[in-house]
Amino acid sequence: MVESTDRYYRLVLNKEVRVIYQNDLLSYAAPAPEDSTVTLWVFNLTAYPAPARTTFWCSVPWIMAITMCLELNAERVPVQAIATFDNGTFRLENDHVAILEFSTPVIQPVTSTVPEFNFTRSESGFEDVNAFYHITNMQEYIRSLGFDNIVNYQIAVDVHALNGADNSNFNSGFNPPRLQFGEGGVDDAEDADVIIHEYGHAIMSSAAPGTNVGTERRTLDEAIGDYFASSYSRAISDFRWEDVFTWDGHNQYWPGRSSVSTDHYPEDLNNNIYTDADIWAGTLMQIWGDIGRETTDAIMIQAGYSFSSNMTMRQAAELFVQADTILFNGVHGTPILDRMCHRGLLVCNVGINDATDTQRAFEVYNTAGFSSGTAAVRVVAAEEFTARLYNALGQLLLTETAASGQLELQSDGLLAGVYLLEVTTGNASSTVKLIKH
Ligand SMILES: [Zn+2]
Repeated sequence: MVESTDRYYRLVLNKEVRVIYQNDLLSYAAPAPEDSTVTLWVFNLTAYPAPARTTFWCSVPWIMAITMCLELNAERVPVQAIATFDNGTFRLENDHVAILEFSTPVIQPVTSTVPEFNFTRSESGFEDVNAFYHITNMQEYIRSLGFDNIVNYQIAVDVHALNGADNSNFNSGFNPPRLQFGEGGVDDAEDADVIIHEYGHAIMSSAAPGTNVGTERRTLDEAIGDYFASSYSRAISDFRWEDVFTWDGHNQYWPGRSSVSTDHYPEDLNNNIYTDADIWAGTLMQIWGDIGRETTDAIMIQAGYSFSSNMTMRQAAELFVQADTILFNGVHGTPILDRMCHRGLLVCNVGINDATDTQRAFEVYNTAGFSSGTAAVRVVAAEEFTARLYNALGQLLLTETAASGQLELQSDGLLAGVYLLEVTTGNASSTVKLIKH
């Protein structure tokens, strides 16, 4: 629409200077910008399998980076997204993202007079198109998970930014917030991992604004960006999804990061928000393997709403368990607890003791009835014992001593989720996991 309040008319007056004809000229002004589907040629892979590197030139990283490897252009795939059609020109702008110029070097965003953006890797328009598509795609995916208030604004993006630095960032200090991608080494906006990682900062800033404070809390944001990048990659292809920044890094410019890790919390922390990120990202990617992309992503976003300044990874793990309860009645409790406990992110505080477990001095009957809420679980031992019931967060719900060596526990009144029943006889303790559906 025309935003000016000025109006322009053609008037025809008679001899008495009366208006006998009036024509509102602005009724013929340019039509309002409209949504239009366009075809975009993008890198939809974050790494390239061997066939892409068919020549010597394409196997040398620095040559790949300076775009002499022409075969890579053949790796581009056509995808579609909504862009803006305005006055005869298609622009890379929609409800979720606008490709703009606001950081040096000054390179204006590309436009097109036809509904197709086809740029090769050596052209500036390629990064415009790549970032535009992957951000749009990620935002539409987040909406498909049921979240309509995460980065629910048109994020401003400059893909030739930061004065050529080999770095990228999210900046919430502008309205709307901005993403800036540098072009040192490999152009950052060529790599969907970099785009999704930085967008991950925008996701967390929406979920828990202003809480990116404290070393472990900031490590979590880096880890969540790495996690979303790997999750996005792995949904496209199994090839090198664990190499975060597969394309931008893992070369002579910088080593990149990994979302597979054997590190254990907290003793493997180095107080570095980047190198410590693999503890959280690695755990989430294991859970991803157990319960899938959509479920793990949704639980992570849901947990993010409760993130606060200066929180620890252990607190984040508890929120993750809670988020599974909020979204899915805790049905994924078993794999989540297994992965988190193994990593040291949740304290398996009820002392699962393998030695006593194998020579368990008690039997548990009717766990199925407990699960469905139709009957009590029955614990039988040869002597007096004490039973303690804990929830998934390790909070003690109940202590009961069975002098007769027998006890029944009802599950009605318990929320769906995972529970741990610890039984102590004499000086030995053992634990069984109970699930309430
Ligand atoms: Zn980051």
